Amino acid sequence: MSPVSPRADLESLPKYVPGRTIQGAIKLASNEVPGGPLPSVAQAIAETAQGINRYPDITASALVERLARELNESVDRIAIGCGSVSLCQQMIQALCGPGDEVVFPWRSFEAYPIVTQVANAVSVKVPLTAGHGLDLDAMLAAITPKTRLVFVCNPNNPTGTVLRRAELERFLDAVPSGVLVVLDEAYKEFVTDAEVPDGVELARGRDNVAVLRTFSKAYGLAGLRVGYAVAPEAITVALKQVYVAFSVNMIAQAAAIASLDAADELLERCKEIVSERTRVRDALVAKGYEVPETQANFVWLPLGERTTAFAEHALERKLIVRPFAGEGARVTIGTPEENDLFLEAAGDFPR
Ligand SMILES: *Cc1c(COP(=O)(O)O)cnc(C)c1O
Repeated sequence: MSPVSPRADLESLPKYVPGRTIQGAIKLASNEVPGGPLPSVAQAIAETAQGINRYPDITASALVERLARELNESVDRIAIGCGSVSLCQQMIQALCGPGDEVVFPWRSFEAYPIVTQVANAVSVKVPLTAGHGLDLDAMLAAITPKTRLVFVCNPNNPTGTVLRRAELERFLDAVPSGVLVVLDEAYKEFVTDAEVPDGVELARGRDNVAVLRTFSKAYGLAGLRVGYAVAPEAITVALKQVYVAFSVNMIAQAAAIASLDAADELLERCKEIVSERTRVRDALVAKGYEVPETQANFVWLPLGERTTAFAEHALERKLIVRPFAGEGARVTIGTPEENDLFLEAAGDFPR
C-alpha cells in the first residue's frame, strides 16, 4: 500500500509571497491603502456580524444589483468572487482543460502562474518591454491554438505602467474570438491618465473580453475578500458554476455595499494617494533612481541585483517593501509621513 501523496507537481508551484507584517514596522508591501474603515462601513460590518449564524446570500444579489446599477450593466454580466484573485482562478477553471495555455505578461501579478498551474493549465509568460510595460505585440504572438485566456493587468502590478486606449483596442481587435482577454483592473481607481480606457466600457460589445475589479485596494477592504467580474453572460454563468459556495461572506457583501455608498469619500482618499505618488516618484527620480511612470498606488524600482539589499536597508529603518529578488522592489504609497521615511531610506541607500 502506498501512502497518500499530493500531486507531485505542487512541489514546483510558485509560492504567493504576502507582504511581511512586522510589529512596529511600516508596511508598504501589499498595495493596501493606509486608511481604516470609514465609520459607516465599520457600522455595516458590526450590524451584519449579528447575523453570522446564517449562511450568506450565495449569489450576493444585493451587491450584484448595486454593482449593475453603478456600472450601467445587466446583473447577468456580473459575478462576484472571494477577492479578484479567486476570480482569476475561477476564470481558468471555467475555461481551461489540462494543457491549455494561459498567456500573461511577466513580471505581473504573482497569482497568475499559481492559479494557472493549480488548474493544470500551462503558463505562457511574455516578458515586459524595456520600459517595464506590457508588450502587446509579443503577447499576441504568444497566442497559439491552445491558448484559452490572456491576462492583461492594467495598470500592471508590480510596475505600475498602463496601456492606453488605442494600443489596447488594437490588441483586442487582433485577439482570436475564441480567446478570452481578462482585463485585471485592481488599481483602476488610482488611474488619472485620461487615455487609459475603462475596461467595462471596452468590454461592452466584445464577446471575448472580461474585466476584474476588487474592493481590496481603493475601497480599503483587503481583509474582507471581495471582488467582481464583468463579463459576457456565458462567462459569468461558468464563473458561478466553479464558485466555491458561500465564499464571499455576508460581512464582505455588506461592507462592499456600504463602501459603494461612501464611494465619494473613499475615492477622495485615493486623490491624496495619487498626489503622494507623484511626489514620491519625482523625489526618487531626483535621487537618481529609475522609476517607471506609475498609475497605481505603488512605485517600481527596477534595482536588479541590488533589490534584496535595498529591501534589507529599508527594513533596518522599519520599512517593509516588497522585493522581487534580482528584479526590483515594489513600494506602496502610504501616508505622507510614511512616504517621507521611505524617501529618507531611499536617499541613504548606498549605490
Ligand atoms: C491585489 C490584486 C488583485 C486582487 O486582489 P484581491 O484582494 O484578491 O481582490 C488582483 N489583481 C491584481 C493585479 C492585484 O494587484
